[in-house]
Amino acid sequence: MTTPIPTYHYRCSRCGREYPGDRLRYTCPHDGGNLDIILDYDALRRELSPSTFPGPGAEPSLWRYQALLPVPDPGGHGTPLRRVGWTPIYALPRLRARLGLPHLWFKDESPNPTASFKDRASAIVLAHARQQGADVVITASTGNAGAALAGLAAASGQRAVILAPATAPRAKIAQLLIYGARVVLIEGTYDDAFDLSVQAAQALGWYCRNTGYNPFTAEGKKTAAFEMWEQLLRDAPDARWHIFIPVGDGNIISGIYKGFWDLHQLGWLPQMPRLHGVQAEGSAAVARAFFAGADRITPVQAQTLADSISVNLPRDGERALRAVRATGGRYWVVSDDAILAAMRELGHHGVFVEPAAAAAYAGLRAAQAEAAFEPTDRVIVLLTGSGLKDVAAAMQAVPPAPQIPPDLDALQRVLAAAHDA
Ligand SMILES: *Cc1c(COP(=O)(O)O)cnc(C)c1O
Ligand SMILES: [Zn+2]
Repeated sequence: MTTPIPTYHYRCSRCGREYPGDRLRYTCPHDGGNLDIILDYDALRRELSPSTFPGPGAEPSLWRYQALLPVPDPGGHGTPLRRVGWTPIYALPRLRARLGLPHLWFKDESPNPTASFKDRASAIVLAHARQQGADVVITASTGNAGAALAGLAAASGQRAVILAPATAPRAKIAQLLIYGARVVLIEGTYDDAFDLSVQAAQALGWYCRNTGYNPFTAEGKKTAAFEMWEQLLRDAPDARWHIFIPVGDGNIISGIYKGFWDLHQLGWLPQMPRLHGVQAEGSAAVARAFFAGADRITPVQAQTLADSISVNLPRDGERALRAVRATGGRYWVVSDDAILAAMRELGHHGVFVEPAAAAAYAGLRAAQAEAAFEPTDRVIVLLTGSGLKDVAAAMQAVPPAPQIPPDLDALQRVLAAAHDA
């Protein structure tokens, strides 16, 4: 039995103008605003029930939410495409006890097929590209979006072209290449790659996946909200929930907002959780706009070791502001040193994340220091990518290991020294 695709149309997040969902549209032709995909919630409310959704036999991937996704089932059984999403939630009891937060959880996105949250977006975009009959999908990427597109396109037999800054971490470039995508490294920033990929898509008639441009990426990212609802919120709808999310372009936080908003429209979630955006001090365009009370984003010269959230002009910044303002959350700004400390601290609890993911945890620590929530509140930290993505950053977070000849005396000497330290 195949699930029908829900009826949908586009609505501009800036001006509210609406457009039919007859084909792929990128941004609002009137003012360039990003487009939200609006489902037919009345029809869905009649067809689905929150107590049985998505059903006991639902597959352990984001495809369990097919009924709320505006794309056809892409098939791909027996490939990594069916392993995207349905990621674990950890309680990390020792860390809870140390922080005095008995209701703290971590959602770990590193088990996704290409080891980051971006797989959610790429899976949905590839399904849409296939439905549209697109041969080639192009994207600009700081690394993870490209790796996700390249890996899942390889799994599904679609063609991907990736433009990434030449400075991207080696592990991410290795992923792009090993998955067999067409990879071009740009002598410039992510923002330069972004503009070039849009030009190339227009000139060559390719389908463009770009974050904060293609409306379907948020439809993939929203599935993480559905999972948090199913894994946690559904059982404690009256509690006060806070979710800490790292923000670069702002598409992850916009997508998570969209997922909770969908559930709220369906009447399945009485109150949206408070969304907290976390940015690196050196790449904080959205946070600055938040604190200035502005609706538009002023670009910055981004400088942070957290490459996945290093962005001059956030492409989904306005919706990232909306996500936080509409839910009563806040923005937090963290230093690179705090990010490295967060990597080390999570590592000591068995969780190895890349700097951008650690930023979310550093944001939680900052919020706790300012008593931004009660110890009885429920808190989820979204850990967006694996630490193996950026080994160079990890090595900066820890002291080097001593090196000795293969000799017991030497071993005892360094062990004693470590013990004294
Ligand atoms: C892309 C990414 C982010 C930030 O997401 P945006 O949509 O750019 O805000 C955070 N962490 C990781 C690991 C990412 O790959
Ligand atoms: Zn508009």
